[in-house]
Amino acid sequence: MNNRQLFLQHVAQTSDAPLALEIVKAEGMYMWDANGRKYLDLIAGISVCNMGHCHPAVVKAIQEQAQQYMHLLVYGEFVQSPQVAYAKALTQHLPENLDCVYFTNSGAEAVEGAMKLAKRFTGRTEIAAFNRSYHGSTQGALSILGDEYWRNAYRPLLPGIQHLEYNNYASLELITRNTAAVFAESVQGEGGVIVPQPEWIHALRAKCNETGALLVLDEVQCGLGRNGTLWAFEQLGIIPDILLLGKALGGGMPLGAFISSRTIMWSLTNNPVLGHITTFGGHPVNCAAGLAGFNALLESQVIKDVKAKGELFRKHLQHPAIKAVRSLGLMMAVELESFEVNKKTIDYCIANGVLTDWFLFAAECMRIAPPLIITEEEIVQACKVICEGLDRI
Ligand code: PMP
Repeated sequence: MNNRQLFLQHVAQTSDAPLALEIVKAEGMYMWDANGRKYLDLIAGISVCNMGHCHPAVVKAIQEQAQQYMHLLVYGEFVQSPQVAYAKALTQHLPENLDCVYFTNSGAEAVEGAMKLAKRFTGRTEIAAFNRSYHGSTQGALSILGDEYWRNAYRPLLPGIQHLEYNNYASLELITRNTAAVFAESVQGEGGVIVPQPEWIHALRAKCNETGALLVLDEVQCGLGRNGTLWAFEQLGIIPDILLLGKALGGGMPLGAFISSRTIMWSLTNNPVLGHITTFGGHPVNCAAGLAGFNALLESQVIKDVKAKGELFRKHLQHPAIKAVRSLGLMMAVELESFEVNKKTIDYCIANGVLTDWFLFAAECMRIAPPLIITEEEIVQACKVICEGLDRI
């Protein structure tokens, strides 16, 4: 059996149609498969490799930290300098109330931690979240996830969850003094890039203030420069009580975080009853990698060009088969007629060296979220291949 057959036989599958390419090398904007074919990456491992694959500073930080020490003891016992340095760097670039970082292994674990934290801090039990949102696949994150089809097979789910409509004012009335927290993506990702209306997101913030519910903004997918500012909430003009990060946070290594004020965080951690424990959360090698990636992102000043690059995509994605392009910066959904048209176009793109895919809850939309370092020439080339694919279908 070849590696592809072994992959299908022995590695648990998450998709009924996996891409199943065998990638042997990735660097910057490109990947190479086992046959030596080169692919321009338009999805960055789903918003993970914002500074490109195997950024040299990240690789160096991993090597150096791995030689120093790897795992020492469960989270929060020893002072580990990569964790401390990354928490300091993140909080220096966040509003004052977001000054305490709990590092996790993944985005979903950040969601789980934040749900527990909100319940502990408010003493309330209900959680509100939005339709079409994706927050992860663990049982708690699944309970708040905004897609009925995905939730159904795993009932019973957590009780006390309200599902609201994004960008809908009437829905906000369901947030009450029993609501511990409202979870919202700053820009919805898997729903097909849904950007909140500015007045509506302000009304959401105001409703949380009025009822005492904590506002949790999930920037696992949209944070760290993807929308053209370091944090998406900067553009929305609101500040969350808890911020969730993941994906790009580890520079390509597994790392997530929930971030709040020390006062809020203290209710979870500094309590006689065990709050939240993790063995590997905030792994020193991953924090070192993440910090190197974060510093590279800030030093390169790549974020200031993100919006112009997004506009360049829009300019070159002119085709009668494209029904709409929804985007903020380099987080884009290209809406096509159907999943079938999308899948055929994606297959054409991959066969012609451009890697893209679709969204979990918007299968008719093509995902464009490349590493932020993509050049103008690469954008023009990618759009040419996509439009050629659409011509043929
Ligand atoms: N929140 C959002 C907005 C996400 O897009 C994702 C992952 N797609 C998650 C949470 C879950 O992250 P993870 O897969 O690391 O658990």
